Amino acid sequence: MKDLQRSLQKAADAIAGADSLAISCHVSPDGDALGSALGLALAARHAGRTAVVSFGSPFRVPGSLAFLDTSPLVPPDEFPAAPDCMVVFDAGSADRLGELAANAAASRVVIVVDHHKSTSGDFGDILVVDPSAAASAQLTVALLDTLGWEIDESVARCLLTGIVTDTGRFQYSVTTGEVMRIASRLLDAGVHPEEIGQAVFESVPFGYLKVASTMLQRATLETDLGLVWSWVEQGDLDAAGVAWADVDGLIDDLRIAREAGVAALLKDTTQGWKVSLRSRGAVDVGSIAEARAGGGHHNAAGFTMPGERAAVVDAIRAGLRG
Ligand code: 5GP
Ligand code: MN
Repeated sequence: MKDLQRSLQKAADAIAGADSLAISCHVSPDGDALGSALGLALAARHAGRTAVVSFGSPFRVPGSLAFLDTSPLVPPDEFPAAPDCMVVFDAGSADRLGELAANAAASRVVIVVDHHKSTSGDFGDILVVDPSAAASAQLTVALLDTLGWEIDESVARCLLTGIVTDTGRFQYSVTTGEVMRIASRLLDAGVHPEEIGQAVFESVPFGYLKVASTMLQRATLETDLGLVWSWVEQGDLDAAGVAWADVDGLIDDLRIAREAGVAALLKDTTQGWKVSLRSRGAVDVGSIAEARAGGGHHNAAGFTMPGERAAVVDAIRAGLRG
């Protein structure tokens, strides 16, 4: 705890002393990654600072997050090439930044704010990392408090979105009393919880239903391993008129099969099969992903692997057999 306080102070000093802030997060950002990044940027602007936010290609804000104030966003090619101070959220290794890894390498100082257990430690000058935190947004609240920067409604909306996303609407085991106290503070700042709930969990493009239907048709249950898995291809998205950023929620439709302790969704992207893993708790899918050069948490993790689909499923089976 002392160490975290010390690194929060170091990060706050570096941010307060910087000319401008270049803020980023992992590729294909979720509510926690983008919410944290925008939250800091908006608070910085309100404090009279210059701040921009970007993330690596594909540069597309998921429709579910478009309700946030995205005014600090710039495309990755307009992000400072050699920032004075770069703050990275929710990414434990440089490879999670896509092309912005080069900007981080050229930055005078890099601050990493993260809660992944697989944070590599080989990147970042100041690490504000706490794997016990429910969300990077929780650490962002602590950082803003250390800076003495105001958390107004627009900032609180971003940060509460991060917490709501990463706690699965306050149902995962990371949901402590402290998390609820932080959330209540953010609500008191004027956030409308129904706006977050509607945007993040209750609103998909119609084509999502078609992709979900195809994905669920293909679902396979392997009772011996307690594994349910399925896949989605580019052609499925094309037929339904949606993009990868629209279908982040698909894994949540798959993982609810009671017979399975682990769910795996394979997405056939241009980089190879991007695998999302979820566990009910007994199995550490973070370790399985790490063994394949990916990462994540005990209950939610991912990795990317080229090759045949069957080989990817074999790799998951091998990971489960330990
Ligand atoms: P998702 O399945 O929603 O893409 O990701 C679940 C969790 O695993 C998130 O915390 C995400 O940051 C992490 N994750 C997903 N893919 C990768 C990856 O390729 N590398 C690393 N280090 N983490 C990943
Ligand atoms: Mn997160």
